[in-house]
Formats: sequence, structure tokens, C-alpha cells
Amino acid sequence: MLALFLWLWLASPAAEQPSAARPAMAAAVAVPKPAATSTCPVCGMFVAKYPQWVATVVWRDGTAAHFDGAKDMFTYVLTLGTYAKGRAATGIATIAVTEFYDLRTIDAREAYYVVGSDVLGPMGREFIPLATRADAAEFLRDHDGSAILTFTQVTLQVVREVDEGRR
Ligand SMILES: [Zn+2]
Repeated sequence: MLALFLWLWLASPAAEQPSAARPAMAAAVAVPKPAATSTCPVCGMFVAKYPQWVATVVWRDGTAAHFDGAKDMFTYVLTLGTYAKGRAATGIATIAVTEFYDLRTIDAREAYYVVGSDVLGPMGREFIPLATRADAAEFLRDHDGSAILTFTQVTLQVVREVDEGRR
């Protein structure tokens, strides 16, 4: 049943945005690493302890914010007025997430995110970043995920639902 659903979903031309802006594989990006003292602006946890979960927002002025998972990165980017007062989204140079399988740092806007899976991050339920849709589909199968989302599909409402296990 799940396989049928996946097939229908993957085969549906309406399921995907026109792919001009979206490469088949999220690009690797180079971003600063969190320092031992870097804390997540959203939850306050030390980030460097969780290298496989690190997400990073790099501002055009060269400063960076590090997160202990994609979920808190989404919360931050979606509520800059709370977590980065005086900043606007136009000031963001790069957003990076850590790819689940190979741990490369990839462009967050090009990544695929599996939600509803049995893999928990330091802050519980997570958006699991994958570089390709095929990898995301494999992860979803192997880890009982419920959906694959792209960056722009993630709203604050979605973050809440994922956090509370409603997705
Ligand atoms: Zn956090």
C-alpha cells in the first residue's frame, strides 16, 4: 500500500514544482563549523556535540548561527523577529544542513526532508535532510516516515506538527 502510494506520488507531475531551480542533488556547501561554545539560538543546547545534526545559517556579514537539527533551523528562519531581531531573510547568504547518510554539509534549500520517521535528533522528532528525492524515499521506507517535504513546504505550522508527532 505504501509502495503504491509512493509510486503514485512520485509519478504525479503535480507533486513536484518545475525543477528549473531545483537540482537533482542538493549541492554541497562550505560553512563555518560550530565552536565548542556555540549554542542553538532556539533551544540553547551546545551544537558541536551533535555533528551529524548540525544546521547552519550564514549571514551576509559573515556571522553564523548553528543549530542542533534542521527543526530549530526552520523555527529560526521562519521567526527571525524572535530569534534574530533586526535581521531580515534577505540578509541570509547560505543555509546548510547535514545530510543524513553521508554527513556532507548541503544546501538546505535544495535538500529533501523526511518527517514522521523513527529517527530522533537531539531535540526529538526531526526533519531528516537528504540530498536526493531517491535517498529521501529510501529513508522514508526504512524509517517509517510519513512524508517528504522540500524547504519551501515547511511552515511554522508544519514545524509544530512534526515536533508534536502529528506528521
Ligand atoms: Zn536547538
